Amino acid sequence: MSHTLRFACTQCGKCCHDLRLPLSVDEAIVWLRDGGEVKLFCEAIPWPDEPPQNNLQAMHKKGRSFPAHSGELPVRIVATLVAAFDGPCPHLQADMRCDAYERRPRTCRIYPAEANPFIALNPEGKLCPPEAWGADKPVFLVGATVADAGLAHTIAQSRAWDVKDVDARARVCAALAISTAALANEGYVIHSPSGKALLEALNASREASPAAGEARPMEWGLVSNRTATRTVLGEIGARVVPESAAIPGAMEYLPFHAAD
Ligand code: SF4
Ligand code: SF4
Repeated sequence: MSHTLRFACTQCGKCCHDLRLPLSVDEAIVWLRDGGEVKLFCEAIPWPDEPPQNNLQAMHKKGRSFPAHSGELPVRIVATLVAAFDGPCPHLQADMRCDAYERRPRTCRIYPAEANPFIALNPEGKLCPPEAWGADKPVFLVGATVADAGLAHTIAQSRAWDVKDVDARARVCAALAISTAALANEGYVIHSPSGKALLEALNASREASPAAGEARPMEWGLVSNRTATRTVLGEIGARVVPESAAIPGAMEYLPFHAAD
């Protein structure tokens, strides 16, 4: 029998604090026009060979990334537009309501469900209090299936935009001369262009003709804080960029692990 998970939001507001909110191109434009800050989190997946079509996880990664290379190493770049803030979201009001409720990003609408189809929802990894998952609450999930049709539709939309926006995000990187990424699963290189420059690049990317989809920064530098990783990357001909190349306020490296 499928596992059933029950949930109802208590409106505690915890999920509106200290966030890294992935945004579509359209959502990033709205967020910037509202005066918010948007950054680009970049990671590079080594892609020496094309995986088989039945490798669904690899196909998922391929769909949300664009091809490039780092020196002699073929890679795929995942460049994610992210609204990042410490403390309360700029849209959070004192009564824990959202002042941008009608135009809030899909990530906000989806929480605590997972947008990534390969990640199972684990209540312990979520910010929602224990009472939100009580046995008296409505059914939220049956097995891996979201019970609410509207929420399921929003999740599907979020996944679709993640793929549809790939070329636009590549054009934004090209327009802003962004071409440094972290090795995937080791961290992110976070680029923080000015709001004005990013808004212009986003608007241009959305208006570009399909032929402009080829305007990508093809050559990327890779950052890692691990000696062993840098050595391997060097041996296979990748272009390794030192962490010290970070530019305060414009580019930083966020590692997942301590340096070795
Ligand atoms: S946009 Fe609204 S729902 Fe989303 S984090 Fe901010 S306050 Fe919360
Ligand atoms: S953390 Fe969970 S319960 Fe609290 S407001 Fe967010 S979704 Fe609702």
